[in-house]
Amino acid sequence: MGKVSITKEFSWDMAHLLAGHEGLCKNLHGHTYKMQIEVTRKIEDVIRSEINSEGMVIDFKDLKQLVKDRIVDPLDHAFMYWINSPEPLEHDIAQILIKNQRKVARVSYRPTAEEMAMNFFDTLTKELLLLNLELRTVKVWETPTSFAEVKGESI
Ligand SMILES: [Zn+2]
Repeated sequence: MGKVSITKEFSWDMAHLLAGHEGLCKNLHGHTYKMQIEVTRKIEDVIRSEINSEGMVIDFKDLKQLVKDRIVDPLDHAFMYWINSPEPLEHDIAQILIKNQRKVARVSYRPTAEEMAMNFFDTLTKELLLLNLELRTVKVWETPTSFAEVKGESI
């Protein structure tokens, strides 16, 4: 039997800069990010009533809460701070914001859409495995026409 999937979309506003970048993205700037996540479950598990699936992969409301708690809320209206950035300016900006109790999201990766998609994929894969669900894809849009995508290995 195959699998059935659902997709949910999220968005948030966030500031970043790209250390060492030669173009405009070396400047402090922001984006309205958009993310789509696709979650799958075996068809037989969705239709089997004894495991109480209610004919769903997962309730959209529960998926929304999980992704908001783990990914979206900590990032919304934050400065994404790469703690290993080679650029002193990035550390200076973060220190000023922290000193003034403004929102900073500390990450251990360069804040590109690709890195975000890979890290969100890892985080959400672990969470969803606990619910017996498989994360199929994560897409992260940095602009309305540019996105990075990570696909699970079983596809
Ligand atoms: Zn940018």
